[in-house]
Amino acid sequence: MPIPQRLSWPVKKILNSRDLFQEFNAQQMLERKVFSIKKLYKCMQGEHDKVNWRRIICNNSASPKAIFITWLTLHDKLATKSRLYSGGIAPDKQCVLCENADETKSHLFFDCPTANIVWKICLQQIRLTYHKRNFCDEVQLVANRSHNKSPQAQLYTMFFTEALYRLWTYRNSSLVFARVKVDTLVLCKQIIFNVACRCAEDVRRLLIV
Ligand SMILES: [Zn+2]
Repeated sequence: MPIPQRLSWPVKKILNSRDLFQEFNAQQMLERKVFSIKKLYKCMQGEHDKVNWRRIICNNSASPKAIFITWLTLHDKLATKSRLYSGGIAPDKQCVLCENADETKSHLFFDCPTANIVWKICLQQIRLTYHKRNFCDEVQLVANRSHNKSPQAQLYTMFFTEALYRLWTYRNSSLVFARVKVDTLVLCKQIIFNVACRCAEDVRRLLIV
């Protein structure tokens, strides 16, 4: 049976798996008790190139919701106003935080003055000086650090993830929906609190309190 194109990608993926199950002889393997979920998972996953930022997602103790938003951002799937505007959904593409530039992911998370303050305060917590970079350079830097097991590298990856998430929710709930501005310092405290709660005890000692 052909799969309707209007279905969402998870449903299409599930329906596509029917053929894969038959190719994999999953039923027969189950009957012969030689079924391997690992082999089936790898088969369903398919062959893909490894992305350089994979450890930001897989080697990170940040909260799952923050990791999910980061994953969406890295896939360029976050519904920023620039993307919505190009799809004819949003009436404008102005950044809701500074109202002074187009709201792209690069602007919202790195170029916007609010984001600059957040990065500056967060990195002070791990004794680092903030240097403004574009999105690709920052992702490359975090991707490199995410391979490192040092406490500072772990914290850097966590701050990157939690800050992205908080900036995104700040943009959504405080400005788009409620239209109530939150003090940037409160935003930073939420990020630092989340990182401190989720990192290992030996890593937490590095944080300035
Ligand atoms: Zn802005």
